[in-house]
Amino acid sequence: MTFQIYPTLEIPETLAAGPGPGNTDARVLKAFASAGVADHMQGDVLRGMIECKHMLREIWGTDNTYTFAVAGTGWSGLDTMFSAVMPGDRVVAFTNGTFSGIDALTLRIKAATPAEHAANPLDPHAASVTVIEVPHGQPVTGEMVEEALAAHKPKWAFMAHWETGSGRVNDLRGFSDACARHGAMGLVDAVSSLGVADFRIDDYPGIAGWASCPQKGLCCLPLTYAPVSFTDAYIEALRTTGAYSYVHNPIYEARHWGIVDGQDVEKGTYHRTHSGYAVAAFHESLRLTLQDGLAKRARCYRTHEAVLRDAVTAMGCTVTSDMPSLVVLNLPPALAGREMELVQNCRARGFGIWPTLSAPVQVRIGILNQLDRQAISRIVHLFGDAIRELGGQVDFDIIEALLESRYGTSIAA
Ligand SMILES: *Cc1c(COP(=O)(O)O)cnc(C)c1O
Repeated sequence: MTFQIYPTLEIPETLAAGPGPGNTDARVLKAFASAGVADHMQGDVLRGMIECKHMLREIWGTDNTYTFAVAGTGWSGLDTMFSAVMPGDRVVAFTNGTFSGIDALTLRIKAATPAEHAANPLDPHAASVTVIEVPHGQPVTGEMVEEALAAHKPKWAFMAHWETGSGRVNDLRGFSDACARHGAMGLVDAVSSLGVADFRIDDYPGIAGWASCPQKGLCCLPLTYAPVSFTDAYIEALRTTGAYSYVHNPIYEARHWGIVDGQDVEKGTYHRTHSGYAVAAFHESLRLTLQDGLAKRARCYRTHEAVLRDAVTAMGCTVTSDMPSLVVLNLPPALAGREMELVQNCRARGFGIWPTLSAPVQVRIGILNQLDRQAISRIVHLFGDAIRELGGQVDFDIIEALLESRYGTSIAA
């Protein structure tokens, strides 16, 4: 057998128009590529991490000292948030789509006893975990949370803020209030809302732990950092029980970000080997978020999502989502059942949209970091072409008139 070295991996430029990742911002990529060669204890790398910590607190609206970020993807931050859940802990988890479903699996893994793990190692059924399954396409409401927490009196309650699988916004206020009323510590998957929604952690005192990701609202995919934030009550619980993890224990992790024994210190200490390139990219994405301002970003997302929603509706699709960064839709009745074919045709052309990852099969089109007329028009046209390609009808004159009426003559709208 002979082996030849592969040619250099070339990856084409595509349009990431799914639920995430969004197109990483050019400023972020530049910061990533132009960072000098430096190790993880070099002074500017450590200073950058401290600055990131302060910027995160500002963006997320919190005085939680334990606000920092975990190397990796959204699941890395979520695993860190779930690390304080111990075998036998009583948990109520609400699911309404793919991602909260995986979160609930993680919670069952954390709360399962050794016997429960042995009985079903990859999908343990933890008797102490109650999963409330809300059907795909419907939101988790405050009433649902109130009822379940009153009945089960758990130590932990879990919900996704925005369920990206079905494109639904869940009731954060109702969740936080119910947690506070019933003495449960709320845990929230905020992977798809950070950097897109205008909300403040400290307005939701029932929620003890938050976890997000780099690749969605922060436009920072070059594998960087998943933001997390914990109240003192969470840290106290963790201090009391411990966690079965070194790398994802928030108390250990926070040290590299200059948080020791609940206090900010001047300089981080070694937890693991962080990348100066990733720190530089993450730092730039946080600066970008602060410069845009969350209020303005949130407004832009709502404006452009409404245009995309109306355009696909004019093509005969039915939108079932209410997330400002994502449209989840059913194709026109004549094309029902051909969702995968349509998505694959789009991908073949570098137009990266997604199907749903769990039943029912729907199409998901996202607008992360695509916040101008030109970008939305491009997405609308590519999608219209794909519908036509399958034999569907699209009247581009009507679509053009719709875009024009929404955006007027201002190209920059
Ligand atoms: C994208 C997403 C995740 C997973 O994030 P990764 O970066 O793929 O690890 C988890 N939860 C929600 C709600 C998401 O949208």
